[in-house]
Amino acid sequence: RNVELAIRNRTLSVLQKLYDIINTSLGVAPTAQKLIDEIVRELKFQKGFIALIDRSRKQLKTIAATSFAEEQKLLDNYNHPFRQLNVSLTEANNHCVTVIKNNQTHLTNFLQDVLYPFVDERQAIEIQEKLHIQTSILYPISFGGVAFGVMMLGMDKHVGELSRAERETLRELIEVVSIAIERVQLFEDLQMANERLKGLDKLKDEFVYIASHELRTPMTAIKNYLWLAINRHGKDLNDTLKKDLNRAYISTERLITLISDMLTVSRIEGNRLVFTQEVTNLFPLWKQVEDELKILAQNKKITFILTPTQEEFPVRVDKTRIMEVLHNLVGNALKFTPSGGTVTVTLQKKGGMVETSVSDTGPGIQAGDMPRLFQKFGRLDHSYKTVAETGGTGLGLYIAKQLVEIHGGKIWVASEEGQGSTFTFSLPLQQKGEQIKHFETSSITPETSQIPPPPPSPAVVQ
Ligand code: ADP
Repeated sequence: RNVELAIRNRTLSVLQKLYDIINTSLGVAPTAQKLIDEIVRELKFQKGFIALIDRSRKQLKTIAATSFAEEQKLLDNYNHPFRQLNVSLTEANNHCVTVIKNNQTHLTNFLQDVLYPFVDERQAIEIQEKLHIQTSILYPISFGGVAFGVMMLGMDKHVGELSRAERETLRELIEVVSIAIERVQLFEDLQMANERLKGLDKLKDEFVYIASHELRTPMTAIKNYLWLAINRHGKDLNDTLKKDLNRAYISTERLITLISDMLTVSRIEGNRLVFTQEVTNLFPLWKQVEDELKILAQNKKITFILTPTQEEFPVRVDKTRIMEVLHNLVGNALKFTPSGGTVTVTLQKKGGMVETSVSDTGPGIQAGDMPRLFQKFGRLDHSYKTVAETGGTGLGLYIAKQLVEIHGGKIWVASEEGQGSTFTFSLPLQQKGEQIKHFETSSITPETSQIPPPPPSPAVVQ
């Protein structure tokens, strides 16, 4: 009983050491090396190695083997068979392979069974004698009932000399080894997959950037030629042809909007967007947006109100980009609000921020759809018909969110189905006395385009 207790104590101490090894996050090979070193040293084996099935699932390869100084010279002569073991999984004469196939522990008194075909019989006997290995125990390293490796332990006694407690100890240790190796292997696989995904994502971003950049130039050329055809040579065209050209012009415009949005998204995500920020009063910028969009509101018979204010709202923004945000919100409000409705823009100060709200009397947004609103291609199913008619990209709100956040603000929506929507975004108010500043997040080469001159105005007959 005393002997058993001593073994039990030793087992617990080894287990503790193995857990410590597991908890230091190393790669597969260093973990396996530490585990096998610890087991062989603590339990006084002659030799040990761990071999795993490689990724191609065709071979079993040693990834860690104990090595003691005194055996180095001897093993040099045999080309280090333990460390270099690399055996095909179809090799029927190698017992490590059999252990993996059957997922069962196996014992042998012939070292050649373990190292076949790496060493011949004579060499195996020599190594066995010199390293004092009488029995080799081969344990499957398995997870979920499938063996993915093998642990060899060579001892200087006959297996019958192992006590029940010692066998029990070994069984527990091999379980820990299996879990440890499976864990680090999974972690390594996950890291590799993660790296691969990051690479693919970057490639995708570059592809979108190049594709949209290259598409925009010819599309703009097509649009401009169509404009020339309709407006300059319009009188020479018959009505059907004029109508068809108008349709082509409108479709091209939609395509350019989509391409521009994709380009902006790819610039934001690739950190290529150039910003020039300066301190400015927000209200006059909103006035400009109102001027640009009031014709659209009139055409749709929508009352468009920019609530007047005498207050100053100094902010530090990239004017063009921030006007793009309001343009998008008001554009959406006008798009989704039926004739006779109202779109109102208001400004108010709140806790060091200025909040701009765009309220409409449109269809509103279902509560379940809200989380999708500011995502890429976040077009909502129930409004698809309207979108299809008006031609949205589903990128506008995503871009608006990114632009607002880059400026240190937030964007959100309050809406009830059938009750209209209010989109609000905040921007940090500038403290008094701050000077105009310029900064760029990164620089990109300016776009070049060899296209005909742009049309003077989008005077296309609808
Ligand atoms: P899109 O270019 O399709 O308008 P957005 O990102 O700007 O893309 O908008 C995404 C979707 O959010 C729209 O397709 C629409 O379903 C919904 N949406 C946006 N603004 C409103 C609004 N004012 N009223 C109702 N639905 C809206």
